[in-house]
Amino acid sequence: MEKSDVIVIGAGASGLMAAYSLAQAGKKVTVLEACNRTGGRIYTLGDTLFFKHAELGAEFVHGNLPVTLNLLQKAGISYSAISGDMWQYRNGTFTKDAGMIEGWDLLMKKLNSVKEDTTLDDFLDTHFYDMKYEDLKDSVRRYAAGYDTSDTSRVSVLALRREWQGEDEEHQYRIEGGYCAMIQYLVAEIKNSGGEIFLNQPVKEIQWQHNDVSIITADRNIYKAEQVVVALPLGVLQASPDDSGALSFTPPVKEQTQALQKMGFGAIIKVLLQFDNLFWEDEVTEELVGKSLKDMLFLFSDEQIPTWWTQAPAHVPLLTGWLGGAPANKWRNKPETEILDEALQSLSNIFNRSVDALKEQLVAWHVANWTAEPYTRGSYAYDTVDTVESLKVLTKPIENTVFFAGEYMYTGPAMGTVEAALTSGQDVAEQMLK
Ligand SMILES: Cc1cc2nc3c(=O)[nH]c(=O)nc-3n(C[C@H](O)[C@H](O)[C@H](O)COP(=O)(O)OP(=O)(O)OC[C@H]3O[C@@H](n4cnc5c(N)ncnc54)[C@H](O)[C@@H]3O)c2cc1C
Repeated sequence: MEKSDVIVIGAGASGLMAAYSLAQAGKKVTVLEACNRTGGRIYTLGDTLFFKHAELGAEFVHGNLPVTLNLLQKAGISYSAISGDMWQYRNGTFTKDAGMIEGWDLLMKKLNSVKEDTTLDDFLDTHFYDMKYEDLKDSVRRYAAGYDTSDTSRVSVLALRREWQGEDEEHQYRIEGGYCAMIQYLVAEIKNSGGEIFLNQPVKEIQWQHNDVSIITADRNIYKAEQVVVALPLGVLQASPDDSGALSFTPPVKEQTQALQKMGFGAIIKVLLQFDNLFWEDEVTEELVGKSLKDMLFLFSDEQIPTWWTQAPAHVPLLTGWLGGAPANKWRNKPETEILDEALQSLSNIFNRSVDALKEQLVAWHVANWTAEPYTRGSYAYDTVDTVESLKVLTKPIENTVFFAGEYMYTGPAMGTVEAALTSGQDVAEQMLK
């Protein structure tokens, strides 16, 4: 096979963005992807049986994020704002507009006074040691574990502060046709610019020397290039050599490997349940709650699968359940059917309906256990107190030959997002083109 200028390993948002920018600048680019599809943690279902455009991975655009919105505009892909009510179910009671954590202002005030980085657990124990703050601490830990999918004993408070200050809840969008529309655009543009994408090519080894790389796949295919962009999930790069999905560098890149290990990668299980009707909008639910849940978007609870959302403002009989952080990690080896049962039990507890009744109404379901996926091995990155130092190492190319890209390489406020992945891909291409 002819030698490429650049091989990109990984056809997720970051790898494709890097390949797109490089191919458009005239580089001969080859993308190698382990799975039989592009997109990585962007995975829109196209099933005819299932709700069209349901997202197993990324679903929302979390704010007016420049790189994402610019790309959507270039691609002519439209997007629409999501809207709806936030509900909470706790101790048998439904409360509206309860998305906000009680004591949040005090939390932010204390966070703003932090000068030196520490973990969330240490910060809470130092600033909120009084027993009266137990509920606040519990809610904040649950939020960091649920939303950021992080381990609270490792996640950096300075990073959380940056993210929480930058949160733009007013501007949240869904992409028309699903996030896959963006991936399809990138793939088409890469090919139009002469780039090649090979699927089912799990990379096992990167042999490199100055301006010369050989990439060896599980089937012993060899691809050659002058430079390589490693656009893999942090979970894969942190895996031990014997884990499926893992790959090695020859010669080893010790400094980078150590830097990668010091970063944080969360855990997530996302459950999609499609019913034959919108039972949460019906009269039985209205009677139970005392109010209509017709415009419900998010529902937060203390159930095993604690967070749920609808497709609001659209009225579609699809509920999405979300379990993040340490509990998702604990369940990584649970069979899908058991996770489905837990999800139905959570809904049964919330909506006071039997599991059997819910099962009868269930038309289709998907359990996306990303932590168990060998080519992802988790959710997305969260910053630890060591992340800043790690990134100093990883953003420096190795002999102008090996470059790293991926959502975990991003330093802005939208950590763990598609924006983070696209920005990293774009940045690495710019760095290579300089
Ligand atoms: C359940 C879930 C929900 C999310 N929701 C949102 C959301 O609503 N909004 C948002 O902005 N972000 C969300 N995210 C985060 C977002 O999906 C990711 O940050 C982003 O897609 C990551 O892109 P990436 O290119 O860095 O990595 P990936 O998309 O993971 O791409 C890496 C690619 O490398 C491939 N690969 C792995 N190992 C190998 C190997 N050995 N050889 C070759 N290829 C390999 C993988 O198969 C994959 O295709 C969510 C993520 C998850 C898991």
